[in-house]
Amino acid sequence: MPDFLRTLFLHAPSWEGFDGGAGARYQARREVRSFWYPTWLAQPAALVPGSRLVDAPPAGLTLADVAPLARDHDLAVLHTSAPSFAHDARVAEALKAVNPRLRVGFVGAHVAVAREAALAAAPAVDFVTGAEFDFTVQEVAAGRPLAEVAGLSFRVNGHAERTAERAVLEDMDRLPWVVDVYKRDLEVERYFIGYLLHPYVSLYTGRGCRSRCTFCLWPQTVGGQRYRTRSVEHVVEEIAHARRLFPQVREYFFDDDTFTDDRPRAEAIARGLGRLGVTWSCNAKADVPPETLRVLRDNGLRLLLVGYESGSQQILNNVRKGIRLDRARAFTRDARALGIKIHGTFIMGLPGETRETIEETIRFALDVDPDTLQVSLAAPYPGTALFEEARARGWLEAEPLVDGSGVQSSVLGYPHLGRTEIFDSVEAFYRRFYFRPRKIFAIGGEMARDPAVLRRRLGEGVDFLRFMARRRAARRP
Ligand code: SF4
Repeated sequence: MPDFLRTLFLHAPSWEGFDGGAGARYQARREVRSFWYPTWLAQPAALVPGSRLVDAPPAGLTLADVAPLARDHDLAVLHTSAPSFAHDARVAEALKAVNPRLRVGFVGAHVAVAREAALAAAPAVDFVTGAEFDFTVQEVAAGRPLAEVAGLSFRVNGHAERTAERAVLEDMDRLPWVVDVYKRDLEVERYFIGYLLHPYVSLYTGRGCRSRCTFCLWPQTVGGQRYRTRSVEHVVEEIAHARRLFPQVREYFFDDDTFTDDRPRAEAIARGLGRLGVTWSCNAKADVPPETLRVLRDNGLRLLLVGYESGSQQILNNVRKGIRLDRARAFTRDARALGIKIHGTFIMGLPGETRETIEETIRFALDVDPDTLQVSLAAPYPGTALFEEARARGWLEAEPLVDGSGVQSSVLGYPHLGRTEIFDSVEAFYRRFYFRPRKIFAIGGEMARDPAVLRRRLGEGVDFLRFMARRRAARRP
């Protein structure tokens, strides 16, 4: 085994509470404090012996805390995103100021789609990687000359050079388990997602999604539009190992883009998890048949995170969601009948949005009535078809994607529907969904049954109201 460089994997500090690390699909500060695990960084970290993973926002670390780490490392690998790129570039400069010999690389979807532009915009960065960067980073950490490492662009004599493309990983069992890195470097209690039990652990069992939704970042950039998967045994053994590492964890979340896309495999994993007796949840498209839902439920599935996106069939067609509303309704009924909870996600401002479709979507959500929901603004990330469409059609009315405190901005506007109206529709949506007797009783009942939930929900309620007030204030000119 080669001697590895002393390698720091870093999700850099940016805005307080910014959930934009190497595991967040929508990089933004959210309505209630939440943090996804930095799984995209944990994967290469698990391939580099002796490395360290630092996830600054959940740990509450500032630049003053992380900059001195540069002294003890030879290589720093930062996961960056469109909203946080400028911040991350400044952190790279600060690290280099502490240790000028430090080699700095950026990974993530944002640099994967524009490698040379990223190098030009971040002078302290020595290399940026493309997709499938796990083994790219491992080779860099092993000390291979950058020119010989496939899948990156690097700075040489003032200009950028690009190496050969890295082959797509097919044997996904080559990806290491991440839970040992979580155990070594993270504190699971610091990770919250409002609709998941706490503490939770999330990880990936595969990469990519076969759907082609135009707004969706990962499949179009770092994941690919095929679902490549780890074997059932590899996944179940990692969860069995995780249970020994984290006896306090109450729920496991499979954050694959669409875990339910390969149904026989999902059922086989479920049966393995059922034997372990764990509670788990996953992402799903609203098209899982009842017989599969039943197998998953019988083997510990608690909740599905479902991207409904819109209640307008035309908008779903516009963004190539590949789902029919009647199917989504039937799926939701089936899941409810089986006692599976649903966290539904919606996006306001997708192409084709009008005042009428906003109303249709809110009515759809009230009608299918997921247990909880999240409403986001359409975010045209570079590298997505939505970004190209928005640019070509002149819909990009503003930038950047987040405001000065890391909260999502409304950047898409249409001749018939301005971005401010789209921005306002998010709050209207939340109010109409949550401020109903049915929802208030449901949440109140949950709080009455469990004092830990009571404390958590009260805190989240305060967070939510503050967040909305801040949002309104930010909207004012
Ligand atoms: S189905 Fe979900 S994960 Fe797959 S491309 Fe569409 S939005 Fe993305």
